[in-house]
Amino acid sequence: MAPNPDSPTTHARAAKTLRGVAELRATLAPARRAGQSIGLVPTMGALHEGHLSLVRRAREQCEVVVVSLFVNPAQFSTGEDLGTYPRDEARDAGLARAQGADLLFAPPPEEVYPDGFDTAVSVGGLNGVLCGDPGRRGREHFDGVATVVCKLFNMAQPDVAYLGQKDAQQALVIRRLVRDLNLPVRIEVCPTVRDPDGLALSSRNSYLSPLERERALALNRALAVADDTVAAGEDEAAAVLAAARSELDSAGIEPEYLELRSAGDLSPVERVNGSTLLAVAARIGRARLIDNRILTRGAGPAGIPPEGDDE
Ligand code: AMP
Repeated sequence: MAPNPDSPTTHARAAKTLRGVAELRATLAPARRAGQSIGLVPTMGALHEGHLSLVRRAREQCEVVVVSLFVNPAQFSTGEDLGTYPRDEARDAGLARAQGADLLFAPPPEEVYPDGFDTAVSVGGLNGVLCGDPGRRGREHFDGVATVVCKLFNMAQPDVAYLGQKDAQQALVIRRLVRDLNLPVRIEVCPTVRDPDGLALSSRNSYLSPLERERALALNRALAVADDTVAAGEDEAAAVLAAARSELDSAGIEPEYLELRSAGDLSPVERVNGSTLLAVAARIGRARLIDNRILTRGAGPAGIPPEGDDE
């Protein structure tokens, strides 16, 4: 549904940018009192079509759409690209507004982490594998994500939060956080948006030289080859991984990880059975890229399974 510029719910359609939590709450209070639904799209900015697909979904489903822009220091490890992460708030504001966002929330770090801030939210289990493996970014990464998302949910108190399948592990961590802490928000996970040649959109793609970008296409190719292998009847994890691996090898990519795990709870799998997550991470030049695909035997869902399927 296209946004209706005359709707009373679009009072904030000028897409004001707010910095403070008190201001955000005060601005949202009339909508909340009127029983209007609030959708939140949490981002780190440097918006691309992937983010904007979430904004559009929120616009279709909710009466008020809030987009947060916050490069969260707590989810970067030492030596990562916190200092150089692309930032262009004016551009982001224009893009979000064009998709019908009502409010931008772009707090400075001290608003999110004031002096004396000393609490962390940690989702067990799911946070210690793949991107959270202690030998890689470590659990701290998802603790940083869970903490800031928990705070953003408390700040904006959305009815629905929109996340991308592109960050499948993050979506699972946040879904578990919501379930375990009884947070009154519904999580909607939206499909990965790709460039026409298959590269998953990422703010970090801007780090890639043309040659590196060409090599990066092997990530999606590897996922596709694995999918084809499963479609051809192979279900052994080792064989499916070997097929994907050979595609990475041919592009000279040594992945940080390439793993098959249960799409509901990230437990290891020996066979592709039900919804299985094939996830890959690799450094290409200065960019650390991730991508994933759900492999299913027979007709199955394309995304991570709905809540409740992970026990
Ligand atoms: P980020 O700004 O990278 O923290 O991402 C903010 C949100 O956008 C997260 O929920 C991501 O999963 C989602 N997102 C990032 N890239 C894509 C993409 N290519 N397709 C769909 N969603 C995405």
